[in-house]
Amino acid sequence: MPRIYFDNAATTPLDVRVAAAMRPALEENWGNPSSLHEEGRRARQAVEHARSQVASLLAADPTEITFTASGTEADNLALYGLLAATGFAGHLITSAIEHPAVLECCRRLQRQGVELTELPVTPEGIVDPDDLRQALRPETRLVSIMAANNVLGTLQPIDELAAISRRHGALFHTDAVQAAGKVPFDLRRQPIDLVSLSAHKLHGPKGMGALYVRRGVRLAPLVAGGGQESGLRSGTENVAGIVGFGAAAEIARNEMAGESARLVQLRDHLIDSVAATLPHAYLIGDRYRRLPGHVCLGFAGQEGEAIKLLLELDQAGIAVSSGSACSAQHSGQPSYVLEALGFDPYRARGSLRITLGRFNTREEVDRFLEILPRAVASMRSIHSLAQPV
Ligand code: PLP
Repeated sequence: MPRIYFDNAATTPLDVRVAAAMRPALEENWGNPSSLHEEGRRARQAVEHARSQVASLLAADPTEITFTASGTEADNLALYGLLAATGFAGHLITSAIEHPAVLECCRRLQRQGVELTELPVTPEGIVDPDDLRQALRPETRLVSIMAANNVLGTLQPIDELAAISRRHGALFHTDAVQAAGKVPFDLRRQPIDLVSLSAHKLHGPKGMGALYVRRGVRLAPLVAGGGQESGLRSGTENVAGIVGFGAAAEIARNEMAGESARLVQLRDHLIDSVAATLPHAYLIGDRYRRLPGHVCLGFAGQEGEAIKLLLELDQAGIAVSSGSACSAQHSGQPSYVLEALGFDPYRARGSLRITLGRFNTREEVDRFLEILPRAVASMRSIHSLAQPV
């Protein structure tokens, strides 16, 4: 039986069309894009074509896209770059459920003198716009709220949050690493100033990110050097990675409408079937305001066993996650995201994240639905054996 990969929020398989687009950049078009000769010019052309493909995914101008080496670096460039440009003064607002790429950067800025507010979320994992209204101050420089959460899959009301921020004179950044290519963006009408992206979450290569910077917004670079990427990100460009990112962005944009509808159907079939067959299973995060292929489940009374369930499913040939990709380093510890929803430390140790992507099928979902109850039942027996009688 071939394995089933249901961990697309951690990373996605490279699309063969992306690999095909990258091959010439590795084998023929290996020039340095800063060189003036023909080899260099060809590489430059490939980079600029990819820049316009990534820009189109957001309906942005290509001059507003800066390539980075990861989504993490894009987040750091947005936050650190903006606050460094203003001498680490002022106030920064984020949410309690951001990815560590944002949260750890915010805490670092706090140690350097920036005032930090972490907004709570509702039990469904959504930031309440009223909480943002109350937190904004005259000295608030930046608000950073993710478009979609990597653990829960919940979609934040970023248009409303960005509009509130702009009315108060604060800039708005969104970490769209999980959302881009799955939900539409149109930065001609969305009042968002900075957007972070990552290629490997949309069937592109790993080690490639990008930051959208609205024209007129000034950032200090994190990396000093030869002045590539308009001085914002020095270092010779990863031409093949950039070309792959461009191809992945174009495919995601062209196929988004049909693919989202397909994934929503698979996701809802999965959620409804689990609810019908496993009465102690519960969905974590808002039922409807969630990414098309994203399901986060808890199992009442078995939350502490989530890692064992993951390993049981792995043995049965199914790859899922117990929260986020980072959990391999923090397994067994409560998730700060679940704690932010109000879960106690025991319940916060357990969730099963099932994230579907472009290459998953209805047959795979049905096979998972067959195997899951057996895997859960075997946990139950371990669990009950472990209980004092
Ligand atoms: N932001 C979110 C919401 C993520 O889910 C991730 C990766 O899991 C990142 C940022 C970091 O992206 P990268 O893996 O490209 O550094």
